[in-house]
Amino acid sequence: MSVILVHTDRFAEHQTPPGHPERPERAEVFDAVASRWRKKGTEVVAPRAATSEQLARVHDPDYIRRISETTGRALALDPDTYTSPESYDIALLAAGATIDAVERVMAGTHRAAVAMVRPPGHHAERSRAMGFCLFNNVACGAAHARALGARRVAIVDYDVHHGNGTQHIFEIDPYVLYVSTHQYPYYPGTGAADEIGRDAGRGFTVNVPLEVGAVSEDYELVFARVVTPVLRQFEPDLVMISAGFDAHESDPLGGMRLTTESFAAMTLELRAVAEECCRGRLIAVTEGGYDLHALGTSLDAVVTTLTGPAASPRWPSSGIPSSRGGSAAEAVGRALTGFWALDDRR
Ligand SMILES: [Zn+2]
Repeated sequence: MSVILVHTDRFAEHQTPPGHPERPERAEVFDAVASRWRKKGTEVVAPRAATSEQLARVHDPDYIRRISETTGRALALDPDTYTSPESYDIALLAAGATIDAVERVMAGTHRAAVAMVRPPGHHAERSRAMGFCLFNNVACGAAHARALGARRVAIVDYDVHHGNGTQHIFEIDPYVLYVSTHQYPYYPGTGAADEIGRDAGRGFTVNVPLEVGAVSEDYELVFARVVTPVLRQFEPDLVMISAGFDAHESDPLGGMRLTTESFAAMTLELRAVAEECCRGRLIAVTEGGYDLHALGTSLDAVVTTLTGPAASPRWPSSGIPSSRGGSAAEAVGRALTGFWALDDRR
């Protein structure tokens, strides 16, 4: 079974003010990646718009209405988050692309899918736009998968920022696991290791806050000790990736030092877990990534690792003396404390 890319060149129509990092040129990078893979024979489809019902699984109806009312207008929703006249329609396509990807993978017509979308989604709260995000694309996708019968959905967020919106939307839900690696302390301020979910969802939020400057070896440790074992224990029916590329060393916003090869390794680790738990069902949805070259090469690496033969992840060596092993190991320990609370509850 093959991999499908969900993409449209319309993602450039969401405009942000000059100098804004989440700029329309990012969509041109998606266009180039999509066209390269189309030429290699990979199927690329255009998304449908998400419906209000699909959005309302994770957003308040009032909020959906407020965003719909930005149609035709350029507004600042918060100091970072803007709309242009087409933004509502484009945001519907971004959420819709994720939902399309979920439908195909859950139906079994495709093993894996990549939704190349903007605006990004993981900061969008149930009733608030935030951090360049209007609708929470990955959350819409996970909720759609649940509606289609997936019992458990795992979301792994390797964007350099913590996905506050995704965490909050699912924090009381034991059927949607949220695992995040992120620079901390940093925007948006959430994502401490002791944020582990609430009520029935306690233990199903796993945060691995990492010090600025983390290198590939730190992430390798976190994947080996936290991400992979936690996913294995959760046994998801679908693995979703909030695929942000702003932890890349070239990124102008993030302070981490990952390389394109690190993104390939993380994606391959997640592919291996998906093959073990759920016949390879995996969906990557783009989030941040503001250096256009790093965005292109890293996204391309994700598609390569998903379309290629299954292989063992090859983590690159950063060549940077790891004075940080200690702090990453500490983060691992703290993250697991929350997750193992799950065992006590069973
Ligand atoms: Zn980000």
